[in-house]
Amino acid sequence: MKPPSTIRVGVYDVKIEINNNLKELERYGDFAENYGDYTIRVGKTSKVATADTLLHEITHAIVRIYNIEIEDTDEEKLVTSLGTAYAQVYRDSPELLAYIGWLLK
Ligand SMILES: [Zn+2]
Repeated sequence: MKPPSTIRVGVYDVKIEINNNLKELERYGDFAENYGDYTIRVGKTSKVATADTLLHEITHAIVRIYNIEIEDTDEEKLVTSLGTAYAQVYRDSPELLAYIGWLLK
């Protein structure tokens, strides 16, 4: 299954790219911002790690686009914890995402 090509965070469309060559990324994923052009790249690993990384990078996007004031080292700790926590909650309650999707339509 493929992710959406873009998601909206704030007023911006954020591109989502799943990169099959993890070595090319040199890490699990990243969030890049360039004058209003935003891209999340996630290396393809296990499905669970891909979900964790995607939620991690989406949280970076939220912090930056919504201008949440936080030190860089604290931001990394925050997004790591929240990304993994959301991945755990969604994994343990798979019906939750469908329900939230229905609530927001
Ligand atoms: Zn990070």
